[in-house]
Amino acid sequence: MCFRLPYLNELMQRLTERNRGETEFHQAVREVLESIEPVLEKHPEYIEKGVVERMVEPERIIKFRVPWVDDAGFVRVNRGFRVQFSSAIGPYKGGLRFHPSVYEGIVKFLGFEQIFKNSLTGLPIGGAKGGSDFDPKGKSDGEVMRFCQSFMTELSKHIGSNTDIPAGDIGVGAREIGFMFGQYKRIRNGFTGVLTGKGLNYGGSLVRTEATGYGLCYFTEEMLKEKGTDFNGKTVVISGSGNVAIYAAEKASQLGATVVAMSDSDGYIYHKSGIDLELIKKIKEQRRGRIYEYRDIHPEAEYVADCSRIWEIRCDIALPCATQNELDKKSAELLIKNGCIAVAEGANMPSTPEAVECFLSNGILFGPAKAANAGGVATSALEMTQNSMRYSWDFDKVDAMLKDIMVNIYRSSSEAAEEYGMKGNLVAGANIAGFIKVADTMLSHGVV
Ligand code: NDP
Repeated sequence: MCFRLPYLNELMQRLTERNRGETEFHQAVREVLESIEPVLEKHPEYIEKGVVERMVEPERIIKFRVPWVDDAGFVRVNRGFRVQFSSAIGPYKGGLRFHPSVYEGIVKFLGFEQIFKNSLTGLPIGGAKGGSDFDPKGKSDGEVMRFCQSFMTELSKHIGSNTDIPAGDIGVGAREIGFMFGQYKRIRNGFTGVLTGKGLNYGGSLVRTEATGYGLCYFTEEMLKEKGTDFNGKTVVISGSGNVAIYAAEKASQLGATVVAMSDSDGYIYHKSGIDLELIKKIKEQRRGRIYEYRDIHPEAEYVADCSRIWEIRCDIALPCATQNELDKKSAELLIKNGCIAVAEGANMPSTPEAVECFLSNGILFGPAKAANAGGVATSALEMTQNSMRYSWDFDKVDAMLKDIMVNIYRSSSEAAEEYGMKGNLVAGANIAGFIKVADTMLSHGVV
């Protein structure tokens, strides 16, 4: 253990022992503890009142069986999770992930990160995350519907528009949200904004689909301003081709950049003159296809059947938007060697700790996920506001609010880093700014 404060060494050791094998969760907690160490040195009351100990322990973990019937009539069983991590500053809020890799450790890491991210948005939302090891890939619409209905039948007992408001994440898009909303409404006999990311016909917000990707670019723009530059004329590489990646590519292009590569979990496409985003949308959003199909229309593009090698491509700006730990130290070194000036995380924790260290020590502009991808949850909170008002705002209004929120997140992260002597380190700044608001609220609530 490598903290200056023995208290943090003991805390980290206890956490590792109590949450055995949950490596992603350990990684996420360690990063936050490293950042907030100077805050704890200056404010021992956070230690005396057990704030950090309470913050790393979820308020509630719900784990349940999800039985469903496949198209061949066989009964299948998956596991469902909801980790309600912190309700200090508002109702639990965070997405649901459906992916075979989901287990308790992944949900805890995501839920823990969500506490600070949600705090950074400046909106009153607590932190949670959930999901299942169900894989929607290759399933029929009927199978996905039956799974979602079974999942929601149990989850509905634990959520509510003032308690816990889930949203989408990997594997959970408009289709899945629709099926889950339908089931919730049927069970509860009430039409409430209990999920965000809803369709526009039944309470969804304009810009929610685009929000995480657009927000990522608004945040990156603020970072680039520090170096007196912007997206215009820059070459951008984006991993993933899901919701976050697609709308990051759209906004980066609108801001004058050329996106030359995108990927899925099988491989990546490199199209030197610029990715044809409409085609990516057709393949991924409409057909739920694979990215290699891109070459059927653009044979001049290159396909490499190894998604991890996407970082070998020369670029000015890298936006990892696929999944956790997808960008390691070797990839970080390659990006730097090839002249990359900025990296901003659209996915949650996509860079390994060694990669982050590499970016920071080489003076690369680095936007950590908690800050850079907070636009999605921020717009979800705007969806909740519109649902409460039974009203909807137009696209430009929500987009302008999203942009303001991203600029504010950048400023508060940057100012917190400077206040604690780490100017330019947005990892530390985001963690500190997110932490202080939740920690002070916990102090005012007493020991709960
Ligand atoms: P989607 O399911 O829409 O897309 C995920 C993309 O990442 C797909 O292209 C997928 O490829 C790829 N991918 C998934 N797992 C892996 C893997 N193990 N290796 C390589 N590629 C992989 O998810 P989102 O775009 O919604 O989410 C992407 C990331 O952004 C996640 O980390 C999520 O937590 C984060 N995020 C999402 C938000 C949102 O609003 N949606 C908000 C904030 C963060 P394939 O199709 O082959 O599986």
